[in-house]
Amino acid sequence: MNEKMFAQELIDFLYDSPTAFHAVENVEEQLMKENFVKLNEGDEWKIEKGGKYFTTKNGSALIAFTVGSDNVAEKGFRLIGAHTDSPGFRIKPNAEMVAEKSYLKLNTEVYGGPILNTWLDRPLSVAGRVTLMSENPLKPEIKLMNVNRPIMIIPNLSIHMNREVNKGVELNRQNHVLPLVGMINEKLEKDNFILKLIAEELNVEMDNIIDFDLFLYEFEKGCLVGFNEEFISSARLDDLQNVHSGIKALVDCKNTTATNVMVCYDNEEIGSSTKQGADSEMLAITLERIVLALGGTRDDYLRSIAHSFIISADNAHAVHPNYVEKHDPTNRPIINNGPVIKINANQSYTTDSESGAVFEMLCKKCEVPYQKFVNRSDVRGGSTIGPINSTHLNMRSVDIGLPQFAMHSIREMAGVKDHLYAYKVYLEFFNL
Ligand SMILES: [Zn+2]
Repeated sequence: MNEKMFAQELIDFLYDSPTAFHAVENVEEQLMKENFVKLNEGDEWKIEKGGKYFTTKNGSALIAFTVGSDNVAEKGFRLIGAHTDSPGFRIKPNAEMVAEKSYLKLNTEVYGGPILNTWLDRPLSVAGRVTLMSENPLKPEIKLMNVNRPIMIIPNLSIHMNREVNKGVELNRQNHVLPLVGMINEKLEKDNFILKLIAEELNVEMDNIIDFDLFLYEFEKGCLVGFNEEFISSARLDDLQNVHSGIKALVDCKNTTATNVMVCYDNEEIGSSTKQGADSEMLAITLERIVLALGGTRDDYLRSIAHSFIISADNAHAVHPNYVEKHDPTNRPIINNGPVIKINANQSYTTDSESGAVFEMLCKKCEVPYQKFVNRSDVRGGSTIGPINSTHLNMRSVDIGLPQFAMHSIREMAGVKDHLYAYKVYLEFFNL
């Protein structure tokens, strides 16, 4: 496979997936095309060896798996985990606000930890999930929406109003980052702007709209960048990059002996403690149900966990060329030099010498280079899904990621080669 083509595929996927809901919808579509069967949580599951299946939670998390020929109680599961969500802005209820009797802006709330100033002066659009009236109050009708036009922007303050701006600015989350939608006039009134927008986009009656989970996103599509197009510049590389390569590896592994699982959690950016996040029983229950549906017992399930291994794949920090002092003195990941094994003495990453060795041997087997990341000892780093997942599933686990710059910027940056490297290792792992 050509690395630039694969990177371009990723850029298309990122563009089509402005929210976790859209990412899951796109993955679902891809899996259906590959003859994966959708299993509903509430149904009895019929699963057989050699089969390919997936299930979703909340429309924003997904678990896909292929059943191998070996007994899962003895062979265990091969798992890769990633997350579907990205930091940004969520639109509040009653969002319409007027400034200077002339401008319409929207009240928003920050989701996760975006680099706020990267959202300024960018054409923005809106996407997410909308709930509509239905016969059964317990089951509102759900539709996804993606406006896909640059309908708003958060303008910067001129340097003349703040001469100190280049010394760093603290942006107030309530006052300074509200998007401007347009000028108030006959065509654009303040009242019910969002509801009218939804009604128009989804072609539904305004009275039928009950609620929404709508987010802002950068309208512009990502692209390859660099003199030799060696970099990927796009929104949401963390962590849809690993969703993309992991799903592709699962789709491409054929006639395996192992039962392979790709789990795409939601809500990593806000701590994972939701029903569709890594701090839930979502994955444990699904794995147990797989074993039971294959005719196994609870004891078979527990044995399968002992034989399982998970690669928790969430991006890592490459040494920034303008901030070389920010990194550990002896472990210095470089973009396009391969996946990064993330290590932390206090286990904010699950990697230990045994699970790290597993990943290193996998890389060696498929001739993929790899690197190691540790934080500077005087810097507290981020966390990820691995350690949280481990509190629910006591299986061997390694934390890895692809080296990137500008994590949580509206526009992140990663390496073209690395994306293909990740796919190769994941495929090697699933084919074990
Ligand atoms: Zn992440």
